[in-house]
Amino acid sequence: MKKHVYLRTFGCQMNVRDSEVVAGLMKKAGFALTDDETKAGIVIFMTCSVRQHAEDKVWSEIGRISKPGRKNRGAGSVRPVIGLIGCMAQNYRERVFERAPSVDFVVGPADIDKIPGIVKKILEHRSVSKQACGLFDLKIWETDGLGRPEHIYHTGFYEEKGHAYAVISEGCSNFCTYCIVPYVRGPVRHRNAQDIIDEINKAVAGGITRFTLLGQNVNSYRSPDPLNGKPVDFVSLLKHVNRIEGVEEIGFITSHPRDTTPRLFEAMAEFDKVRKYLHLPVQSGSDRILRAMNRGYTRQEYLKLAREYRRIVKGGILTTDIIVGFPGETKEDFCLTRDIVRDTEFDAAYIFKYSPRPNTQAEMMGDDVPRSEKERRHKVILDLQRAISRAKKEALLNSESNL
Ligand code: SF4
Repeated sequence: MKKHVYLRTFGCQMNVRDSEVVAGLMKKAGFALTDDETKAGIVIFMTCSVRQHAEDKVWSEIGRISKPGRKNRGAGSVRPVIGLIGCMAQNYRERVFERAPSVDFVVGPADIDKIPGIVKKILEHRSVSKQACGLFDLKIWETDGLGRPEHIYHTGFYEEKGHAYAVISEGCSNFCTYCIVPYVRGPVRHRNAQDIIDEINKAVAGGITRFTLLGQNVNSYRSPDPLNGKPVDFVSLLKHVNRIEGVEEIGFITSHPRDTTPRLFEAMAEFDKVRKYLHLPVQSGSDRILRAMNRGYTRQEYLKLAREYRRIVKGGILTTDIIVGFPGETKEDFCLTRDIVRDTEFDAAYIFKYSPRPNTQAEMMGDDVPRSEKERRHKVILDLQRAISRAKKEALLNSESNL
């Protein structure tokens, strides 16, 4: 009988796509997938290290699943094989086994192609050691991979009907001072444009019509052009994808203001299949804090980009991310953030309270904004953004009822 795998995903869309990749590889290797955790002989956590809260949740879930006496039909009388993969795996490496002794394997983002082989090895070891009354569990960790083989993106497995994520670049070299991503996902590596186009063509043949191109900073994309070998940037890649017959809609995340130019907005306005939606994280409205964050743009540069976007992409949606309570953020800095939210009138904003991440530069800057003040600042921006979103919705409803 096939062993069932239960895969739980924490974090961003990149992790959602990575989980699909792992699910596709496991299916190919002869395992079955299940949404019912109690039926699973193998439980895998795809993890996120961007915020402390996401990590705490994973540790607590591992504890829950490993409780002695917990019923699990898929694993028989023993506990399921437990795997921790993704960013936390890379962050904690073999230290995971000290903190969570029930975990059997730990695999970082650059090694996910090895997961089916690792699971098979652990299952074999369990069956042999059961016969031989073995005392020791086999623990495996793989966190030293240098890159992903291209074939992992071509299993044809997608969670959603009609929609697929397509990774265009892995890792990040921007080193925003608060962010752990460059440390756990490594420096930026762009996938070859022809490989991305092949993947999309195959997905179209399988009935998928909507695509989201994924990267930590899609605007820094570079690869040789599939037609003439000359360098191709993100706008040119969009043009290639826009031309693919059968593709009906193209979205992309995430854009970085440092590498975003009006040329992208012109392409968004021109290419009929590209969604008029831009997520452009501003993070702070204060130049002093933007510098401390190593974001690579100023308040004025961001405001100019937002104005250009609205001018060129008529009716385009603009959303953002904001961090409140970054080390050294004064009341004046915070007011500048509040003002940028008020003046830009984002369609939506994702607001986060700063929490230090291990090994980042910001961790060395201390965490001097008290929790209560972070909560107050968070609420101020949240209330402001809610009022803006409400007013925009009402204006839209009014203009529709006047038609
Ligand atoms: S651009 Fe900055 S915030 Fe985004 S993943 Fe890279 S380092 Fe992190």
